[in-house]
Amino acid sequence: MIHDVAVLGGGIAGAAAALRLAQGGVRPIWIAQDRQDAFKPGEHLSAAAIPLLKRLGSDAMLRSEVHRHAHSTYSAWGSDLLIERNAIVQLEGPPTVLDRWAFEAALSAQATAAGADRMDHDVIDFRIADGLWQIETAAGQVQTRFVFDATGRKAMVASKFARRFQADKLQCQYALFASSGETAPRPVTLIEAQEHGWWYMSVLADQRVVVNYYSDADLPGFGNADLEANAQLTTAIGAYLSDYGYSMCGTPKRIATNSSWIAPSIGAGWVAIGDAAAAFDPLSSHGMTTALWTAIEAADAFVAQDRDRMLAYAESVAKGVEDYLIAQQAVYRRETRWPGSTFWQRRTERAEQETDAAV
Ligand SMILES: Cc1cc2nc3c(=O)[nH]c(=O)nc-3n(C[C@H](O)[C@H](O)[C@H](O)COP(=O)(O)OP(=O)(O)OC[C@H]3O[C@@H](n4cnc5c(N)ncnc54)[C@H](O)[C@@H]3O)c2cc1C
Repeated sequence: MIHDVAVLGGGIAGAAAALRLAQGGVRPIWIAQDRQDAFKPGEHLSAAAIPLLKRLGSDAMLRSEVHRHAHSTYSAWGSDLLIERNAIVQLEGPPTVLDRWAFEAALSAQATAAGADRMDHDVIDFRIADGLWQIETAAGQVQTRFVFDATGRKAMVASKFARRFQADKLQCQYALFASSGETAPRPVTLIEAQEHGWWYMSVLADQRVVVNYYSDADLPGFGNADLEANAQLTTAIGAYLSDYGYSMCGTPKRIATNSSWIAPSIGAGWVAIGDAAAAFDPLSSHGMTTALWTAIEAADAFVAQDRDRMLAYAESVAKGVEDYLIAQQAVYRRETRWPGSTFWQRRTERAEQETDAAV
């Protein structure tokens, strides 16, 4: 059987594209291994995602009690003062702190209910023969005319046909913390800049806390850093963790969070969406929103079989990357307390370069 379209990857971009295609009457083959075995970082869903979820008919899933509204975020950035950003000023509604797996599972269930034909496997390899994509999985070969690459930063298909760029070497160390205290923790999100990077902490709906430390992969000490001990040394986050009796569960993990993108994000018979098209520094809190937006726009262009619309999609992605790089630099420049720090010095100038591999 030859499929019209295959979606590769089971994250938010893949699920949203599979859903949108199915809603548009094109039943995709969706190749996406279910990996809900470990905590997946990235839980702060921006309010800008709400109109996108409404377009998908998925906004009701944010009302589940496994998520919580993020009414207040505090940041110590540019000074020691903790400044509150209150969600009351956001017209779309508050941001949400997600149970990430629950959110992805709900989107995935909606996609399959709408008609997406899910294969619970990884793509092992692919090639093009006689104008068709031949996609290898452990369950056999899939033939398709068009591919949505939603394989995240790996950009399995897009990186073979387009140029990959990277603007920095940001990485994240993260871990979950649990409380032994008896007082219910205040549900907040905290961001705190430090000499060699910055910290993020957010309380999940189940009252566990996720703590992330961001710095550059090549800066001394990052790889060996003791996340729990260093978190205690921060000002606001350290005080929060000790006030509510939080301690780390398990071992911290490390993951790439640099800004990287593919150009162009479309090619002959393929389109890249989500992180496969453009992956942003989590400071922006826009990765999941971008995953939703790119999935919807690319799916709508495919359903309409409109080449100009697909070209407009690629132009919007390129413009979005350009705008993001300018905004990102402006935000990092607001922090001037450590002029001698390599981490902050690097962020005052644009330094993107072409790269061979996802890192
Ligand atoms: C530490 C951290 C914190 C973050 N914080 C935030 C935040 O607070 N807010 C926010 O909006 N964003 C945040 N992000 C970014 C956000 O998580 C991503 O932008 C988002 O996950 C992108 O979704 P995606 O579907 O494009 O990619 P992914 O979520 O990476 O999904 C890609 C999928 O493709 C699958 N895949 C890969 N290779 C294959 C293959 N060969 N065959 C089949 N499937 C394959 C993967 O298993 C995965 O399921 C954060 C990211 C990190 C790492």
